[in-house]
Amino acid sequence: MINLVIFGPPGSGKGTQSARIVEKYDLTHLSTGDLFREEMENQTPLGKEVSQYIDKGLLVPDDIVLKMLFRRASDDLESPGLIFDGFPRTTVQAIALDELLEGKGIPVNLVISVEVEEKELYKRILGRGEDSGRSDDSEDIVRQRLDVYKQQTMPLLEYYKKQGKVACISGMCNVDKVFEKISHAIDTYMESRTVLREID
Ligand code: AMP
Repeated sequence: MINLVIFGPPGSGKGTQSARIVEKYDLTHLSTGDLFREEMENQTPLGKEVSQYIDKGLLVPDDIVLKMLFRRASDDLESPGLIFDGFPRTTVQAIALDELLEGKGIPVNLVISVEVEEKELYKRILGRGEDSGRSDDSEDIVRQRLDVYKQQTMPLLEYYKKQGKVACISGMCNVDKVFEKISHAIDTYMESRTVLREID
């Protein structure tokens, strides 16, 4: 079994690709964004608290993210194969995840980084905003989310690159093609425990 992190900016297609990966490889999907949206829809105290950050395009503070993940997903975290989508987003979160998984004797095996040019990200998210119903898909908030990604989340890639776990994939093509490349990275890892650094 394999534990994956799918990594990339907002609009890079992490959610869409995760759904396909889950189906093909029978993994358990953990999306902190989905969990927060559920809390907001149900208007729970946590939902109200995190909406202050999410609606502004800011990251939810690490302690809240970690507490929520361990509370909401403790059963899922016991599953044999996991895919983390939108988590970790900071080095503090990555270290917490490593500690958690180490305790279970299972590491993060592979980090799939989906790279998409900024102009294309705006196009995709603003296009999706019309029917996603997401409160954070408006132009100003998207700009903020991309800035936050560059400043707070991108440095995390170095953390995983130092561990030799990152496979970089261009997301500048259609959904099927991106999935084909992701599958190639996963299959290669499963067959030979080799991380393909760049996939064309
Ligand atoms: P996503 O659906 O992954 O784009 O997440 C939507 C929003 O939820 C983000 O813009 C953040 O405000 C918040 N969020 C989701 N996951 C995290 C996380 N791991 N750390 C901090 N904030 C998060």
